[in-house]
Amino acid sequence: MRALAFAVPPPPSEATESLRGEVREFLAVELAHRTPQQRAASWSARDPAFSRKMAERGWIGMTWPKKYGGHERSALERYVVLEEMLAAGAPVGHHWVADRQSGPNLLRYGPEGQRQAILPRIAAGQCSFCIGMSEPDSGSDLGAARTRAQRVQGGWLVNGTKVWTSGAHVADYMILFCRTGARAETDRHAGASQFIVDMAQARRGGVTVSPIIDMRGAHHFNEVAIRDLLLPEDALLGAEGDGWKQVTGELAFERSGPERFLSAFTLLVEAVRALGPEGSERAAVAVGRLTQHIMMLRRLSRSVAGMLQAGEDPALQAALVKDLGNVLEQETAEVVRLLVDIEPDHEAGEPLAAVLGELVLTAPSFSLRGGTREILRGIIARGLGLR
Ligand SMILES: Cc1cc2nc3c(=O)[nH]c(=O)nc-3n(C[C@H](O)[C@H](O)[C@H](O)COP(=O)(O)OP(=O)(O)OC[C@H]3O[C@@H](n4cnc5c(N)ncnc54)[C@H](O)[C@@H]3O)c2cc1C
Repeated sequence: MRALAFAVPPPPSEATESLRGEVREFLAVELAHRTPQQRAASWSARDPAFSRKMAERGWIGMTWPKKYGGHERSALERYVVLEEMLAAGAPVGHHWVADRQSGPNLLRYGPEGQRQAILPRIAAGQCSFCIGMSEPDSGSDLGAARTRAQRVQGGWLVNGTKVWTSGAHVADYMILFCRTGARAETDRHAGASQFIVDMAQARRGGVTVSPIIDMRGAHHFNEVAIRDLLLPEDALLGAEGDGWKQVTGELAFERSGPERFLSAFTLLVEAVRALGPEGSERAAVAVGRLTQHIMMLRRLSRSVAGMLQAGEDPALQAALVKDLGNVLEQETAEVVRLLVDIEPDHEAGEPLAAVLGELVLTAPSFSLRGGTREILRGIIARGLGLR
């Protein structure tokens, strides 16, 4: 068995801690009237006005070059902003995917014209992205994607269906993963490419976005039917056939951040508030255990931020952070349910009942979105040399 190495995360610096103070002051004002239930939605909640305010502070596209609207700050400074936003339950969903993975992907592989046109808009909080990976018969097995882009005069003609596409009904762009060539016998990941799809244009012709209502009754994700959608030449992201390599790099960004262990943080805060300082010893032990797990995951996740900063490939470490983080998030809902005598009800007026209701309904999805538990454990096992 091989060892799985995590670098020691860099200690807090004056720069990161003064930034933390600035972010907390901003949030104290901006979130003053947000209810606990609204906070619980955090990175799933979209508020373009809030994103623009963050952008004015320079907190979107933080690590990108200034010439693309970025701010050339470190990955660890960016981490401070992310964790403070999530811990406070800020509605960061409008820019989240674009800032986390689509922007960095574009920065790395995008044609110069697309970089200049799109990145400054993301950094200004004016642009949102969705992820077109999963298909009706290929979620985990992305290599089996059947949506196909065919070279035609002046561009590419795309046909296929994507599913579970979060925010496709409101996003400005999609990064589409699809087939442009044949799957080779020796390499089942060959022949795939990525494209940038202008969703506003596509929704007017070539793409039909239909809502899928989740079990909480909310419209979050969609089915996206693509029929003879014509994309221009420069919609190709990176090199033709390099889609698999690009998408796996993108997934490291998608899996390693603090959103993978802080989705239930508001619930923990509300539970501690309800239990009060005189809670039972059983409650103190349970809360202490959850808190200690959060601190351990924060250390691992900050280590991955350090690896990204150093230009290393943390795909394996990211899979571990996401899997352990999802276990903790789902366990939080269960532990709180056993500690308090309150019926979960996401429509209740009482804050803890509402947040608990919210989490009971959303937590099952945490270990599906961004890659399922079984797939992540397969990646970890392979990385450890166990399969
Ligand atoms: C809230 C939410 C938001 C999402 N947003 C997006 C989005 O924006 N864009 C997008 O592209 N997708 C999105 N997804 C889809 C998500 O990434 C997929 O659901 C996920 O990859 C699983 O694919 P599937 O649903 O097709 O399940 P399947 O791949 O059919 O898997 C079904 C079950 O079989 C298991 N399984 C599959 N293959 C193996 C294997 N080889 N070994 C062991 N077990 C296996 C899986 O772990 C799972 O438990 C979202 C999902 C959720 C829940």
